[in-house]
Amino acid sequence: MTPQSYYRCWVEVDLDALRHNVAAIRRRIGPRVKLMAVVKADAYGHGLAQVAGALMQCGVDAFAVANLTEALVLRQVGGPGWPILLLGSALPFEVEKIVEQNITPTISTLDEARQFNAAAGARQIPVHIEVDTGMGRVGFWHEEAGKAIEQIAALPHLRIEALYTHFPSADENLAETRRELELFLKVAGPGLRHAANSAALLNLPESHLDMVRPGLLLYGIPPVPATDFRPVLSFKARVAYVKEVAAGRTISYGQTFVAPHRMKVATIAAGYADGFARHLSNAAQVLIGGRRCPVVGRVTMDQIMVDVTALNRVATGDLVVFNGRQADAAITAAELALWAGTIAWEVLCGITKTARVPRLYRGAAAA
Ligand SMILES: *Cc1c(COP(=O)(O)O)cnc(C)c1O
Repeated sequence: MTPQSYYRCWVEVDLDALRHNVAAIRRRIGPRVKLMAVVKADAYGHGLAQVAGALMQCGVDAFAVANLTEALVLRQVGGPGWPILLLGSALPFEVEKIVEQNITPTISTLDEARQFNAAAGARQIPVHIEVDTGMGRVGFWHEEAGKAIEQIAALPHLRIEALYTHFPSADENLAETRRELELFLKVAGPGLRHAANSAALLNLPESHLDMVRPGLLLYGIPPVPATDFRPVLSFKARVAYVKEVAAGRTISYGQTFVAPHRMKVATIAAGYADGFARHLSNAAQVLIGGRRCPVVGRVTMDQIMVDVTALNRVATGDLVVFNGRQADAAITAAELALWAGTIAWEVLCGITKTARVPRLYRGAAAA
């Protein structure tokens, strides 16, 4: 019995695909550009500890996370040596812990810089300074960054290891992204430079600079067309029940689906509490027996219904694929995102991380 044969729904993470994607990124950036792996949000829902472990074996150069909690998990997994950049602003009560654990903070105000300078004690700690060239989130506005950087450089206990910026529309507006890159390069200051997220890595090679910062691409979902990546995650479930449905019968809450003819409908053992978004009601397809079967009616908390009229045989216990491959068919996170009116990032992060949806790891690195 394989582990998946006694789960109702689960996620499979293919660590060989992850390694493949790291190699594909390396081929695109060449030997002189460093690779900082973005593993925030539990490695985009794939599981931080296992993904980071595999990435350490592949020899990425550094990691980036969103907050201190993630940084501390990663520090535990990897030990003291790995560079970990905190992308979000540090809150005042986090400063001491960040310094103690050798986590590299992002500096976006002079006040933050002074707090870290004071917390560093006798040491000199590396910091990255974020420059805002259009994202409007955190960072010094590019016009004012040069002056701020001079002041930060004068603080004795900080060492400016890098300057970075973040592109808001590298997947859809190349001209604007080029303009933002120019603004960033005009800012004077010491250290390395990094800017490229997944979309810029693919779309704008001149933005690779000293280091790239991909997230989504590591997980095999190119945000702009590219064929050299493999999806790492699959989301699967089981058929729990099959019934005959006469014309005119209604399916699920709100009775939004009325059977137009005699149908066969399967109930699947997963719903929005597992991360199959309610926005997929009457909109998505799932794979059963290698065929696409439409979701009928609203997605409920624990179960969904799908039209299996076209299948010759379907039975309780049959495998259902929400996201991944089955025979010659495949459904990607990007396709699910389109159906749900969102983006692939949210589809991946939205898969429930409690025991309702166990993560199973495959590939050489999982052994
Ligand atoms: C999330 C994030 C990334 C990675 O973005 P992808 O689009 O997933 O590659 C890079 N840089 C920053 C600052 C981020 O917040």
